[in-house]
Amino acid sequence: MSALGAKPPNFVVIFCDDLGYGDLGCFGHPTIATPNLDRMAAEGIKFTQFYSAACVCTPSRAALLTGRLPVRSGMCSDKRRVLFPNSAGGLPQSEITLAEGLKTKGYATAAIGKWHLGHLPQFLPTNNGFDTYFGIPYSNDMDRLASAPKGRESFWKPKVKYFNVPLLRDTKVIERPADQTTITRRYTEEAIEFIKNHKAKPFFVYLAHSLPHIPLFRGTAFEGVSKRGLYGDVIEEIDWSVGQVLKTLKAEGLAENTLVFFTSDNGPWLIFDTHGGSAGLLRDGKGSTWEGGMREPGIAWWPGKIKPHTSHAITSTMDIYTTCLTLAGAKVPADRVVDGRDLSPILFKGAKSVRDTFFYYRGEQLYAVRQGPWKAHYITRPAYGRGAPEKHDPPALYHLDHDPSEKHNLAKDNPEVLATIAKALAQHNTKLKRGKNQLDLIIKK
Ligand code: MG
Repeated sequence: MSALGAKPPNFVVIFCDDLGYGDLGCFGHPTIATPNLDRMAAEGIKFTQFYSAACVCTPSRAALLTGRLPVRSGMCSDKRRVLFPNSAGGLPQSEITLAEGLKTKGYATAAIGKWHLGHLPQFLPTNNGFDTYFGIPYSNDMDRLASAPKGRESFWKPKVKYFNVPLLRDTKVIERPADQTTITRRYTEEAIEFIKNHKAKPFFVYLAHSLPHIPLFRGTAFEGVSKRGLYGDVIEEIDWSVGQVLKTLKAEGLAENTLVFFTSDNGPWLIFDTHGGSAGLLRDGKGSTWEGGMREPGIAWWPGKIKPHTSHAITSTMDIYTTCLTLAGAKVPADRVVDGRDLSPILFKGAKSVRDTFFYYRGEQLYAVRQGPWKAHYITRPAYGRGAPEKHDPPALYHLDHDPSEKHNLAKDNPEVLATIAKALAQHNTKLKRGKNQLDLIIKK
């Protein structure tokens, strides 16, 4: 039984792909209309300093579902930054996923959408604590056919037939190529059906939209609806989807016993021009350890339970793991380092903070450390392309509250801040046990 009521709460985690910090109305976008997310934020908690644990898909998703920095599970790499259709690796069985943890308390669990933690049968959601799965096993741009237009042409004017990405039900391919124009709607219908069919039990729905990762697709009902163009259409369809899920929870009388999180796996893919999103006033985007690569819009919603407010606490996708397990009355693993924190003090008591320090990794390397408002970059590197890593000694130091765009390096005048951060990093390193790299394993032909 949970601490909060007779029946443990339900959890819905809505996870976007490559959505930027500045891409929602409630996070300041001028021309993308997101009335459902704006309402969700107004009724819940809007997190202004919510971080994914990595700046690209696979490691970020591993961290969400394990509550651990990807370097601990081995789900990150300096060579191959994510899993690909020829990857032989995936989430190790030794990891305890959020779904597996909730299963110990009798939860019904569904994974819907993009997985990207291993496409071979042993790595799929149904072997990682989920009762059911409906979605694509890796990114929507992988499996591009040789017959598709070369270079970026197939992204600027994407057609479903260019991308031979499979759609799976549990472990079986049911459609290929997946019709990506209807995919957001179908994910939504799937989530709604699961909620309606499992309302007697506690449930966990992991709804991981495969968009707005390029190539961009949206349903016919959303063609040309947004002032922001194609990218805006895609976000407005996701906003519609969020509205449908929340409406269902209310209509089924479940809203007051369901905690819903909304966020994304990493920042906007800026190299795709207007097909990529916006990190707002944050620097850089996907692939980078500047704020724009890892800080995400974060929203928590639980009517009647959480007091609506804006939180500036340093929070993370990894906290979703620890928070849900704790609220369900399930065990947070004690035999390993779990980086996620229980957000209950913020959710229910308006606490200002649950952690002081955050570590930014790019692949297997630590690039930056945040402590309070200060962020020290030990290494920086362009998000994509051939740019080499640049080491900083002393580290480049920014005050994120005063300078969220990371423009003014204050290292020279603040050696004592750098010394305190160096101590926190040394402490972190003493407990760091690196998992065996899973991303460099390739299927042998
Ligand atoms: Mg992504």
